[in-house]
Formats: sequence, C-alpha cells, structure tokens
Amino acid sequence: MRLRYWGMSSTHLLSNTTAPTRVTILPGIKTVLEYQIFLKNHSQDCKPDRCPYCGRSGLWCHGSYTRTADRAFVKVFRYLCHYQDCGRTCSCLPECIPPRRHYLWDRQQAALVLVMLGKSIKAIIPPFSRPSLRTINRWKKRLFAKYNEHHLHLCSRYPELGKCATIESFWIACFEQVGMMRASFDIHQAREAIP
Ligand SMILES: [Zn+2]
Repeated sequence: MRLRYWGMSSTHLLSNTTAPTRVTILPGIKTVLEYQIFLKNHSQDCKPDRCPYCGRSGLWCHGSYTRTADRAFVKVFRYLCHYQDCGRTCSCLPECIPPRRHYLWDRQQAALVLVMLGKSIKAIIPPFSRPSLRTINRWKKRLFAKYNEHHLHLCSRYPELGKCATIESFWIACFEQVGMMRASFDIHQAREAIP
C-alpha cells in the first residue's frame, strides 16, 4: 500500500516554537482507529517521498514520539533529511490528527460552530470531551485571524462558499459542506498555516 504525501510547510503554524518541525499529512486516514490499523500493516508507508524543507528525496526514519489524540495515544514517526546542508527533521501525521492540538477536528468543529451560533457548549458536548471556553475562543480567534487567506484558498476549491456574507456564515457553511478536517488538509496543501 502506498499513499501520496503532501509535505507542505506548516512552519508558520509552529512559529511559536524554538525549533519548528514541519509536518507532512497522510491523506485519507479519517479516524484514529484507521491510523492505528495503518501503522500495524503499513508503517513503512508513513515516510514522505521528499523532505518538506529542501524537497529532495531520501529521508531516513529518525525515531518516533507518542502523542495524544482525543483520548488515545498514537505513535508518530520522525524523519531526518540525510543531506548535510539540510539535516532537518519532519514528522508525519494522519489527516485525522491536528498538529499541536489535543482535540480532534470533529470536536473542534462542533465547539466552534456552537460558539459562532452563540449557543452553550455545555448543553451539547459531554464534559469528558469538552474543551474549555477559553480554548475554544483561542481557536476562534485564530480561525478569524486567518480568514482572508483561508477564504481565498477554500473558495477557489469550493466556489459555493463564496456566497457567504460573513466570517461566521463562511466557516459554518465550510464545516457543514467540507468539514474542518478536509478544509484543514486543503489549506495545508495550499501551503498556508492550518487553523
Ligand atoms: Zn532536506
């Protein structure tokens, strides 16, 4: 089994770190369970074809780390570019796991829609999987701050979204029609920082 990879930059997403690591996204893996099965049978296929920094082929596996995704622990592989003038590392995440966020896309999407509609998240999202209002507002702030760039890329791919008159209506329609997971992947492919 061989998937295609998109080793696009997410350094702006990670720019608040001292040593940003670019991520490559494995498309088509929609759930954590699918990813765990994929790792059991095709872990060698996690390796990106090319280094996301210099674009050359020849990455070496450089260990792995464990991260949480919702309430599961999953393995994420790191890769090292073996060229001396590059020598940087990257990691590879499945489409279903957001880089640097604990909550999966569907949880983020549900919480953001409720906040944008002015509804209470407490009434709908169960406590064990509920992000704090402060966290959701941080997501919303970022979503709104990147609106111009994301709007441009997503409308070029999904023209019907161009009819939305406000930021809130745009994101609600986008989540409903495309889903936050796929929209984030599309944004990543366009070399923009994902939400
Ligand atoms: Zn490289």
